This record gives sequence, C-alpha cells and structure tokens, in this order.
Amino acid sequence: MPIYEYKCKTCDTQFEALRPMAQADSPTPCPQCDGEETMRLLSVFAASAKGADGGACETSMAWGGPCCRTIAPGGG
Ligand SMILES: [Zn+2]
Repeated sequence: MPIYEYKCKTCDTQFEALRPMAQADSPTPCPQCDGEETMRLLSVFAASAKGADGGACETSMAWGGPCCRTIAPGGG
C-alpha cells in the first residue's frame, strides 16, 4: 500500500497516511484536529532528494513507472 502525504487546511498540519490507491483522493481526517478539510500533497517519493547514485529511484520502484528524475521539471 502506498503512503500519501496530506495537509490540513484548518490547522496546517502535514501528515502521512497509508492508503489504498483507490482511496488516495478520498478525504482523510486530520489526526491533529480531526477536521476533514484536508488536501493531498504530491508524493513524498518524488520530493525526495535521494537516488543520485543508487540505481533505480524510489519513485520507479514504488510505482513501477518512469523514474522521477525523468518526469521532474528540470531539477538538478
Ligand atoms: Zn487539522
């Protein structure tokens, strides 16, 4: 099961949740204030700065798709 990152609009808390892909976009209650005004952030894998010299990148392994460095917008 992939892990997703969410942010609460009410208290600005960022949290991660392990959810099935089918429920990735479903509202996830904030663990801090129990509010439902949350939004899903981009994958934490893609935001990772690792993978410079370790073969397949984390995104590729997690999703079975193209490497994050391939789809990244011109990062370094
Ligand atoms: Zn909250």
